[in-house]
Amino acid sequence: MKVAIFSTKPYDREFLTNANSALTQPHELVFHETQLNPQSALLAQGCTAVCCFVNDHLDATALQQLTNLGVKLIALRCAGFNQVDLVAAKNLGIVVARVAEYSPHAVAEHALGLILMLNRNLHRAYHRVRENDYSLNGLLGFDMVNKTVAVIGTGKIGQVFAKIVQGLGCRVIAYDPQPAPILAANGVNYVALSDIWPTADIISLHCPLDKNTHHLINADAISLMKAGVMLINTGRGGLIDTPAVIGGLKSKKIGYLGLDVYEEEGDLFFEDNSNLLLQDDVFARLLTFPNVVITGHQAFFTREALTAIAAITLANITHFEREELSQMCIVN
Ligand code: NAD
Repeated sequence: MKVAIFSTKPYDREFLTNANSALTQPHELVFHETQLNPQSALLAQGCTAVCCFVNDHLDATALQQLTNLGVKLIALRCAGFNQVDLVAAKNLGIVVARVAEYSPHAVAEHALGLILMLNRNLHRAYHRVRENDYSLNGLLGFDMVNKTVAVIGTGKIGQVFAKIVQGLGCRVIAYDPQPAPILAANGVNYVALSDIWPTADIISLHCPLDKNTHHLINADAISLMKAGVMLINTGRGGLIDTPAVIGGLKSKKIGYLGLDVYEEEGDLFFEDNSNLLLQDDVFARLLTFPNVVITGHQAFFTREALTAIAAITLANITHFEREELSQMCIVN
């Protein structure tokens, strides 16, 4: 099948090409660096499938364009699918498939990395030592043992994350409309969302972005949190109302903020903008806080995850070509 791959980076090309060459019937992969949007959709001319990533714009207009070109499948090479207008895709008869699971460990371990970095001020210590400054003022951390960590969303990633922090001796509480029995059996205490805010020392977000979770972290929720709470978001940027979080940082209600995702990341992340002026004033404000660490949507970025993403994405395409829809991970 001929597939137009959008938002391609060198590592996408490498892992997808390697996985494709291992297939008995390889696909014809056409790589494009540009994001998919209503204008660039024309690049899918002659392709039956497009392969997209987290910040491609799959709104109704782009989907209509793809339909006009004869595209029948959107193979997402990610787990989240909030970037796709699923209703429009369904109405147009376009199948949307995703990679439901590749490495929950990659994301969960990155969340832990953000926590330890913020707690022990590793981002500041790194620079101090390189400047011949070995003073410890301002680097004071806390023991993780016995702290209460809240996991919001206990699917694949949330479950791995809960296990990791239990290993550090943390007390784990969780909220999920569909609790995981295995976690409950292993000492995780499921509570109402309203009980998370006043109880948690650390809150980590692992739920999908949808209409129920949009701005889950807002001014009201922040007002109920423990003073000095640590907030970690490796889920999706839209889970957080960023101006409200900036307010929480300024009032010191939020003591630490670790982000791998940002609501307006589509204009920033995955690109080298070091020669450009930063135009996003909200993001610029976040960068001024010493107790904020931001990574550019890299939690998924491990060798194991990219290998699995490439293999599963191509398997989805192969199954679609063979009309084996039941073997695909279809989201619409
Ligand atoms: P998953 O589908 O296995 O788990 C999601 C869990 O969230 C489910 O248990 C679901 O019941 C729960 N949930 C749904 N609505 C909820 C709500 N309103 N409140 C609390 N929980 C709710 O997904 P996953 O593989 O664990 O991934 C979780 C999210 O992580 C993805 O949706 C994606 O947005 C994000 N993600 C980020 C990266 C990254 O690189 N930063 C990589 C992969 C996934």
